Order: sequence, then C-alpha cells, then structure tokens
Amino acid sequence: MKSTQADCNVTIIGAGPYGLSAATFLSAAGIETRIFGEPMSFWETQMPAGMCLRSNWGASHIADPGGTLTLDAYCLDQGNHMPKPIPLNRFVSYGHWYQRKAVPGLDRRQVQMVDDDARGFRVRLDDGEQFISRRIVVATGIGAFTARPAVFDNIPSEFASHSSEHKDLRKFEGRRVVVIGAGQSALESAALLKEAGIAAEVIARRDYINWVGLHPRLHRLGWMSRLLYSKRDVGPAGLSRLVAAPHLFRRFPRTFQDRAAYRAIRPAGAAWLKMRLTGVPITIGRNVVSAAVSGSRLRLGLDDGQQRVVEHALLATGYRVDISRYAFLAESLRRRLQIVNGYPILRRGLESSVPGLHFLGKPASWSFGPLLGFVSGAEFASTELTRQIRSANGSH
Ligand SMILES: Cc1cc2nc3c(=O)[nH]c(=O)nc-3n(C[C@H](O)[C@H](O)[C@H](O)COP(=O)(O)OP(=O)(O)OC[C@H]3O[C@@H](n4cnc5c(N)ncnc54)[C@H](O)[C@@H]3O)c2cc1C
Repeated sequence: MKSTQADCNVTIIGAGPYGLSAATFLSAAGIETRIFGEPMSFWETQMPAGMCLRSNWGASHIADPGGTLTLDAYCLDQGNHMPKPIPLNRFVSYGHWYQRKAVPGLDRRQVQMVDDDARGFRVRLDDGEQFISRRIVVATGIGAFTARPAVFDNIPSEFASHSSEHKDLRKFEGRRVVVIGAGQSALESAALLKEAGIAAEVIARRDYINWVGLHPRLHRLGWMSRLLYSKRDVGPAGLSRLVAAPHLFRRFPRTFQDRAAYRAIRPAGAAWLKMRLTGVPITIGRNVVSAAVSGSRLRLGLDDGQQRVVEHALLATGYRVDISRYAFLAESLRRRLQIVNGYPILRRGLESSVPGLHFLGKPASWSFGPLLGFVSGAEFASTELTRQIRSANGSH
C-alpha cells in the first residue's frame, strides 16, 4: 500500500466523454479528483466539420450518476432541438455544456509526464508544475494511435494524410481525392467531399461495404427489440446485449471475445450515408500497393494493376491502440505494464498491472470488450472505477 502523503487522490488525464464522466462519478462519491485536458478536443479538432455521429441518441449521452445530464436535458436547458443523426458540432457543444455543469474545476493544462513515485505518481504539467497523485486515470482516447498503411510512409503530408488531420475538408477544393478505407470515417469523408463539390473516390480492401441501420424495423418491435439490442448500441442483434455486459463478456474464451469484438465494431457505414454517396465511385476488394509523388500529383498502384493519379490520398484507415505511444507515460511505468497487442491488461476497476494506474475508453477494450470504445461505455467505466476506488479507500 502506498503512503497517503500525496497532494491529490485521483488525477484524470483527458477531458473527453470518458474523463468528464469519470470526474462526475468520482466527485459524486466524495473522492477528491483533479482532471486535466481540453474538453472534447478530439471531437473538435480531429473529426471533419459536418460529420454526424454514428451512434444513436440513446447511446450518445455522457453518463452521470443521476442521469440528469443527458442530451435531452441539454436540449431542454438550451431551449433548442437537436436533429438525428446528431451533428458533430452539436455533440461538441453538449460536451462543453456537460463540462460546465458537472466539472467546472477542469484544468485545461496538458499532462506532460507521469512517473513513479514512492507516494503514488509524480505528475508534471505543460507549464512545469508538478504534484503527487495517489492514482492516475488515463482517459486520453485514441488520438495518439492513428494507423496509416505502410505504403504511404514516405509520402509527404501534402499528398497523403490521415483523416484525423483535417477539420475542414473544403481545403481540398479543386483537387481529386482518393479516400482509403471502408468504415464510417472513410464513407462520411467521401460524402462530405462530394457535397463540397470535390471529386472523390473510395478505395477499400474489403470485398463489400457493411451498412448498419438498414433494418430500422428491428428497433421498433417493443420488448423484442429490447431483447435483441441493448441501449448501448454496440454490435448487431443479440451480440449487442452481451457486449453491454462487460463482466460477462470477459468471461468468454479469448478467441470468442476477439471474434465477437471484431463483429461488433467491424468497418461499416451508417445506412443514412448511402444516399449521400450517390455518384461517388467506390472501388472494393482492392489494395493500394504503391504510392509515388510525380510532380504535383500522387500516383497510386492497385493490386490488380490499375492506377489512379490524384492530388491527395485521405487515409481513413483508423486507429490501432498502442499505449506505448502515450508519450506522457514514463518509461519506468511502461516497463511495468502488462500489455497485449498494445492494450493494457486490466482487472476490476479498470486498473492495470501498475497498482493505481487505470485506463478508460478504447485501451480498456481488450479487457472489457468493445463497449469501451464508445461513448455509451462511459457509464460502465465510471461506475466500475468509482466502486473500486471507494472500496480501496475503505468507504462504501
Ligand atoms: C471519426 C470518428 C467518429 C466517431 N463517432 C463516434 C460515435 O458516433 N459514437 C461513439 O460512441 N464513438 C464514436 N467514435 C469513437 C470515439 O473516439 C470515442 O467514443 C470517444 O472519443 C471516447 O471518449 P474518450 O474520452 O475515451 O476519448 P476522447 O474523446 O478522445 O478524449 C480524450 C481527451 O484526452 C485529451 N488528452 C490527450 N492527451 C492529453 C494529455 N497529455 N493531457 C491532457 N489531456 C490529454 C484530449 O485532448 C481529449 O480531449 C468516433 C471516433 C472517430 C475517430
């Protein structure tokens, strides 16, 4: 047991949906908590303007213990209506509203380093301030984990960039853009490019595009729908229920968990995008095997010998969790973390192999299943975290 001579009990790093929700639950439980980060900054700066959320209304509330800070409460408070699907800018405003209401003490500074200390963890902020915290909750999301196909490794960013690098896709006006990927981000980026009058083509490795929400009737069957789908809205009929129960999900054999997790979050586009993509060429079952800059153009070679000559490749190729890319974790801590495929192995309370160091959000999904990659998993994460810290602190 570590000494209690720390300056602070719990430090949360990150102020996205998970960090904000955790701060609210911990404070409600009377646990002294500090939280750092720019609220909702991943959503604000690393997703394209004009985007809509793929998760449905019921799965997009940022959880709080009383259930009073929902999207509905936000709309009521602001006296305005929110369309469905939820527009990105409105969700960001909701997140800021939640923060002002529930986490007014948020500190916008960045955490630069977290290191081991006999009393807990030493935290250094970007302005040099340091303090000791008994526990650290990492809620810094996936922003550090961008994945790019190796074939683009030597291509300058002017010609190939990850989708997370763009806030405003209108910057590609007058250029031809190839969008690489088959998920929501690729398909929605292509739709937004088309709507801005920019010539776009989607190229995807997969042989088909998965669409979700093609059968809305299945969600309107009353008790039967409730039996098939959890309100958390992660995964297809049936599996959705299991994914929503992370403690049960993690009891299944690893091979089943991996297969089920892939099925629940495989690349897919929301059905409402289909119409918006009319007229956008979608080339499926093809891999880009070569990329070279030639003058002001980018020449792409596909695995069937076809070529594309464009001005830019937008890599909507997702994220691969690798917590060693969290630069703020000191080497000494990283060495003590048990990791599988880049994910920390977590036990109850989402606590890692380093006692007192917790991970929320997507990095927790190897241990607790795919729910943890979505806003709707924050209620589970916050409840679980709070319960464990309370019991470790000896209060009930
Ligand atoms: C294009 C796209 C669309 C998506 N759409 C949906 C959707 O519709 N529904 C859904 O549920 N999920 C969606 N997701 C998944 C989404 O990323 C997660 O649901 C959500 O962001 C998880 O919240 P989080 O709090 O874990 O992470 P984030 O929202 O990424 O928040 C992490 C925060 O940590 C901060 N931070 C990072 N490093 C530091 C540091 N060193 N010091 C201080 N602060 C730091 C960041 O600034 C950021 O604010 C989408 C993802 C993408 C990429």
